[in-house]
Amino acid sequence: MNDKLLKQYGEMAVKAGVNIQPGQTLIINAPITAADLVHHCATAAYDAGAREVVVNWSDEKLSRIKMDRTAQEVLCDVKPWIQESYLQYIKSEGSAAILSITGSDPEIYKGLDMQKINAASIAKMNALAEYRSYTMASRIQWCVIAVPTEGWAKKVFPDLSADEAMEKLWQTIFKVSRVEGDAVANWLDYARTAAKRRDRINEMKLTEVHFESSNGTDLYVGLAEDRLWGGVSEYSEKGVEFIPNMPTEELFTAPHKDRVNGIVYGTKPYVYNGSLIDEFVLTFKDGKVVEYDAKVGKDLLKSLLETDEGASRIGEVALVSSSSPINKENILFYNTLFDENAACHIAFGEGYPGTVVGGEKMSEEQLLAKGVNQSVIHEDVMIGSADMKITGICENGEAVILFENGEWVF
Ligand code: ZN
Ligand code: ZN
Repeated sequence: MNDKLLKQYGEMAVKAGVNIQPGQTLIINAPITAADLVHHCATAAYDAGAREVVVNWSDEKLSRIKMDRTAQEVLCDVKPWIQESYLQYIKSEGSAAILSITGSDPEIYKGLDMQKINAASIAKMNALAEYRSYTMASRIQWCVIAVPTEGWAKKVFPDLSADEAMEKLWQTIFKVSRVEGDAVANWLDYARTAAKRRDRINEMKLTEVHFESSNGTDLYVGLAEDRLWGGVSEYSEKGVEFIPNMPTEELFTAPHKDRVNGIVYGTKPYVYNGSLIDEFVLTFKDGKVVEYDAKVGKDLLKSLLETDEGASRIGEVALVSSSSPINKENILFYNTLFDENAACHIAFGEGYPGTVVGGEKMSEEQLLAKGVNQSVIHEDVMIGSADMKITGICENGEAVILFENGEWVF
């Protein structure tokens, strides 16, 4: 893989993604296989004036060994120092920004005890709740990008050799992440264009969006009170603009947790805790999933929906045109960062506080009162199709077409 492009990719994540500021600490979470990229990121961060770059390395093969051979109670005993290791930097004077470099074999935990994996992941989410609240509410700058791993690349391109698959996945990631020419400038440009559409949809003051598709989808998603549409860039508590997901193609907001009704069909497979859920259908009544089925992974879908009270309701609704560069690749990435940007989606579980006016400063109870869902999970599932029609209902009752045949009409 081309080192020049890798350098661009790192600079893109540090300068346009987290937009590191002089004096800040950059915390990088990364797999050990991404060392070259991490070196580029660290260089870019120090050159931009970062105080310190702190790296937390992970190793998915070691995680699988641990998941397989360690008792559930040990996996669920997440020590407080792990959260502290983030909070001490975040709460320090200069504050911190978080860059998460993700990349994993989508089936890394295949064949292991699902219930144990679920319990371990919930325990971790709970133990890191305070840290997660900083990113969920965008109080600090954060960004997620991805790197291929061999297992992942082989899953996406099963007919290629391991080396060819890795190379092809790198090229695809670069392409859909706008890494060509000046990647930082490309992103700043794109963020400006996206902000215009975001402003326009916010001015419409929508209270509901209606999804219709020939596959049978007929879903009414009532929106949270004072909903705010977000997309591409956000602002931290200190007013620093950053881009939390790269790539990103969505405009999203908070549904009202009690006002979702109708039926919706999944249009892409979904990977949950390392296993697949595919060809699913969900029926919502007053916000809650009351009926569901899936041709693949029905038990997994069941355990997802039963995680906690909020897991069977949705915390996000997102609009993505079917001509998105990611959808055009016509690849299933087995990775939410990419797949969620190929199609309109909804997310089971927690909503983003930033998707209602003033939400970042609200308590859980205040957010619930606005209709913003609460849960320990946030799992995006794809519902968009090439013939999707989306109609928005405004506060004054007027209906506006947003999507026709899978595309934005404005
Ligand atoms: Zn989304
Ligand atoms: Zn989401």
